Amino acid sequence: MHEPSLPDRSIAAYDRVTPTGRLERLHSLADALEDVRILHVNSTAAGGGVAELLRSIVPLSTDLGIDTDWLVMDADDDFFEVTKAIHNGLQGSGQPLTEAMKTTYRAVTDENGAEIDGEYDLVVIHDPQPLGMLDRLDERLPDAPVVWRCHIDLTEPEPASLEFVTGYTRRVDHGIVSRSAFEDRIDVPSTSVVYPSIDPLTEKNRSLAPETIAAERDRLDPLSFDAPVLTQISRFDPWKDQFGTLEAYRHAKEERPDLQLALVGGMAGDDPEGLEVYERVAREAMDDPNVHVLTDRSDTAVNVLQRESDVVMQKSLREGFGLVVSEALWKRTPVVGSTVGGIPLQIDDGRTGYLVDPDDTDAAGDRVVALVADDERRAEFGENAREHVREQFLLPRQLEELLEIFTAVLD
Ligand code: UDP
Repeated sequence: MHEPSLPDRSIAAYDRVTPTGRLERLHSLADALEDVRILHVNSTAAGGGVAELLRSIVPLSTDLGIDTDWLVMDADDDFFEVTKAIHNGLQGSGQPLTEAMKTTYRAVTDENGAEIDGEYDLVVIHDPQPLGMLDRLDERLPDAPVVWRCHIDLTEPEPASLEFVTGYTRRVDHGIVSRSAFEDRIDVPSTSVVYPSIDPLTEKNRSLAPETIAAERDRLDPLSFDAPVLTQISRFDPWKDQFGTLEAYRHAKEERPDLQLALVGGMAGDDPEGLEVYERVAREAMDDPNVHVLTDRSDTAVNVLQRESDVVMQKSLREGFGLVVSEALWKRTPVVGSTVGGIPLQIDDGRTGYLVDPDDTDAAGDRVVALVADDERRAEFGENAREHVREQFLLPRQLEELLEIFTAVLD
């Protein structure tokens, strides 16, 4: 396993975006955890929402005085093919695990678990990839409770995948899911619901100087913000449904021939499917000069795209939470999203954006047309969106809830 390099963070900097009393509560929760060492384990240092969350949660916990480490598993594509199948199965359509795949999973998680040598008092395992380390954790840290933080959409898991994962989850001390509808889907001794959050002070989410925005807009040429822009930012993954977004765009284009579509994505280190999906999306988009398929963009570019687009779309078929929705809403950009997983928690239909049935690409396209045509509605939705995220989906709120859970689990 390896430790990713992390930026320095200061909780005091969040004062401006945090309701009265929360920072004090965070400090007193942290004081009570002063002698506790916490370890977070996941499977990628970059790409995707879990890495995005840990990059803020870990340094801020440290700044609060809680001794917190983050270790990322070392593994190759064979392992990630297996864990992607588990992930897909939990979301409802995975390739069944063969005995050979299970053997790979056990061997790689065991090797990684054998490398844990710190004296931790609490271990937080993110998603199913590291769950196979439980035997090693029992051996090395027999007194440390284990929390399983599941970021996946558990609306309709496949029984075989669920059974494989349950063999591990019923041995942890506590589970955390992102939406109450997922709570009864997994077998853990107890569960909590914690909504994820965005970090308003990162390069991706902070406000930017007009010159920075202008320079980044130039870099995105031939995409032009002088004509309407619809954007989706997601890993290239079948669940993110870039093909559905393309269909919605084509429908919208019948009314708005000047509409452009930016499909922006990166490849997470633990997602071997990404390249193949990217190639299929790029091929499908090739004939339309108004569709821009962009990869490996900087956080500043993502920030500018979310900020400057007229509408952001998130047409996922499953979505544990979908940080990209709150990221866009925070930048006052309305979002058209499907009614799956964590998306309806974030979009207040008709106030901050629109919710659409995941199968109804025409309805998604119609919502885009309506928003693009109406500057006032976009501005009003944008203001509502900013407040909605400020109230519910900023980092200090999530951190407070996590520290409360850690305190209870250690009690
Ligand atoms: N992201 C990014 N560049 C990309 C695609 C995604 O920086 O090209 C980021 C995005 O801004 C968000 C995270 O990756 O912070 C994706 O998190 P989300 O919860 O939306 O989805 P996940 O990938 O975890 O399923």
